Amino acid sequence: MKRALEQRLSAVEGFRDPSAALEQYPTPADLAAHLLHLADLHGDLAGRTVADLGTGTGMLALGAATREPERVLAIERDPDALAVARENEPRVDPAVGVDWLLGDATRPPLASVDTVVMNPPFGAQRGSEHADRAFLAATAGIAGVSYSIHNAGSKSFVESFAADEGGEVTHAFAAELDVARQFEFHTSERERLDVEAFRIEWAGYS
Ligand code: SAH
Repeated sequence: MKRALEQRLSAVEGFRDPSAALEQYPTPADLAAHLLHLADLHGDLAGRTVADLGTGTGMLALGAATREPERVLAIERDPDALAVARENEPRVDPAVGVDWLLGDATRPPLASVDTVVMNPPFGAQRGSEHADRAFLAATAGIAGVSYSIHNAGSKSFVESFAADEGGEVTHAFAAELDVARQFEFHTSERERLDVEAFRIEWAGYS
């Protein structure tokens, strides 16, 4: 199932004109399939309401939409990325349609969802420090459970953030993002980013 999902998600196109300030690094299909497979095994996708915060070109939202969720909402503030995400939907052709929303994912227009999936900006670039903290805070306010990707070395920060909100990190794994050279400050042709992914049960998880 995981390999079939990866195959399906390999049709997802990335950013046309990636913005360094918005830290637009797409999740590769293999990592997206790994994360969503974990979510599926925990019963966090089928029949659930799912939100993808900072959906970019839709990778995680479209993957979640193939797992028979009740509903998928995907929020992104870059209209160009959202346009690509909409074009990606028929390429993946999920049974459940995604609701694409243009807006600020750190102030999501949602009262609550069962599950958040996200690969938010990491806050590594000047001007976006602690960007992932704002996304975690938004998640704590709306989600029962979340699956999120952060830069390597985030584990203690994420664990203490979750604990402060009455939540708990239940799973953590390391992965690599092989991102094509897309920004001028990258020196090599391909750049590998070490990342960590977490499953967090928030206070309201049931
Ligand atoms: N989740 C996508 C994209 C990751 S890159 C994927 O997995 O492939 C992070 C995304 O967050 C970018 O598309 C960026 O435009 C978006 N973003 C950054 N700040 C945002 C905000 N405040 N609200 C909504 N989207 C935001």
